[in-house]
Amino acid sequence: MTEIRMLKMRNPRTGQIDSELAVTSQAELDALVAKLRAAQPAWAAQPVQFRCDALLALADALERRRESMTDALLRDTGRWHESVLEFDSTLATLRRWAAGAPACLEVPAEAPGNIPFIKTRVNLVPYALVGVISPWNFPLLLSLIDAIPALAAGCAVLVKPSEVTSRFVEVLRLALAEVPALDQLIGVVIGDGVVGSALIAAVDMICFTGSVRTGRRVGEACAARFIPASLELGGKDPALVLADADPQRAARAIAWSGFVNGGQSCMSLERVYVDASIAEVFIAALVEEASRLRLAHPQPRDGEIGPIISAAQVDIVREHLADAKAHGARALTGGELKDLGGQWCPPTVLVDVDESMKVVREETFAAILPVMVVADEEEAIARANDSVYGLSAAVFSKDQARAERVARRLQAGGVSINDASLTGLIHSEEKQSFKQSGMGGSRMGAPSIRRFLRAQALLINPGVEDPWWFKAQP
Ligand code: NAD
Repeated sequence: MTEIRMLKMRNPRTGQIDSELAVTSQAELDALVAKLRAAQPAWAAQPVQFRCDALLALADALERRRESMTDALLRDTGRWHESVLEFDSTLATLRRWAAGAPACLEVPAEAPGNIPFIKTRVNLVPYALVGVISPWNFPLLLSLIDAIPALAAGCAVLVKPSEVTSRFVEVLRLALAEVPALDQLIGVVIGDGVVGSALIAAVDMICFTGSVRTGRRVGEACAARFIPASLELGGKDPALVLADADPQRAARAIAWSGFVNGGQSCMSLERVYVDASIAEVFIAALVEEASRLRLAHPQPRDGEIGPIISAAQVDIVREHLADAKAHGARALTGGELKDLGGQWCPPTVLVDVDESMKVVREETFAAILPVMVVADEEEAIARANDSVYGLSAAVFSKDQARAERVARRLQAGGVSINDASLTGLIHSEEKQSFKQSGMGGSRMGAPSIRRFLRAQALLINPGVEDPWWFKAQP
């Protein structure tokens, strides 16, 4: 008999192991894959409205489980406010695609091709089985954000959430069981990278959200199998505060972006370049904003900042802080992790920092904002672009045209202007990750559904006899 592997689930608030989950075995994964593949052709053959109605039914089923799902997300992540936002954002994503998918999937009419008597038509053919591998920072949303349009496109989906935050899966499975049309089309497996590798071996396309390190391995595994990989990876998002920015307003937006979800969002700003002429007043305002925020302890609803969710991330954050201090960085507020059973990072503003330090160069994924003073806009742009990452950025200036000019020169897939992290809130615009922050088509915007479809051209000769028979074509 094969041994059942168990995942030990650590409570991020207390640091204690408080439960165990059984890891999906290879035999269970194989059976699930067979079930999903068997159900997919009939699902794809349904009118798109049928599939959209099923997505709406899932939104309603989740809504009925609001309390148990937000509780599960709280147990997974230790934070309350963002769990509610994450839950609401997931419902909104289901309903948005249910409303928008039919227009996205309209098949173009038959049309004449470049040779007029040949008619052409394009069929959109879904990948049969899409695999989704997600991280721990928004467990529910990032497990479904690609799965939802894939389902609308006619694919079946197999999801593997992070092993750090898999408690929510039980509630998701209960909700799915209430939507029979969908229950056969979406499977969820539990486990770590071993299960992730097995999933890649079993599907026809991958949507991966996670670190650059794992993303590279996932991309290589997909390349070996000749299957497409849509990779959404890490970042080190810069904010550029230009000389003519409103320093108070910039400080507020940057503090929100850097500290919400304890800085554990791919959309978090992680470094700031401020013009020397307003640096003093900006830094003072940022420190004031940071000092106002409280740890959400002892009760989850007490304050704004939750614990560091992943134990592995704690080591990275400690290392970045130690490296920065060893090289002369000063914390104007925060700067030390708090051991409250789990590890908590108070909002931290660092100065006397530069790109030689890990906290400026590498993704920290914590409530830490290193602030660097620059002589002018040119220096800010050059230093912002001096990174292997290219996820998002923010530019602050009272002159919108100037801010847009600066934004166009940034090597980042999304740039918020006079605000921050808008990429996490605006889902309607296409946005691709630059450099090592990702690969593949946009996850956002209506065209993102095309990632799950292949175009099949039908080239129709309506009855013209032997038009090509040994005639040279011009
Ligand atoms: P991670 O790369 O460690 O893990 C992500 C997922 O990959 C997990 O489910 C893990 O089990 C799985 N995995 C690990 N090894 C694997 C393998 N060999 N094959 C297949 N799957 C494997 O990332 P994490 O620590 O869970 O998440 C944090 C990272 O995610 C950060 O870098 C963050 O920036 C990034 N992220 C990016 C976005 C985005 O949209 N760009 C969004 C959220 C998070």
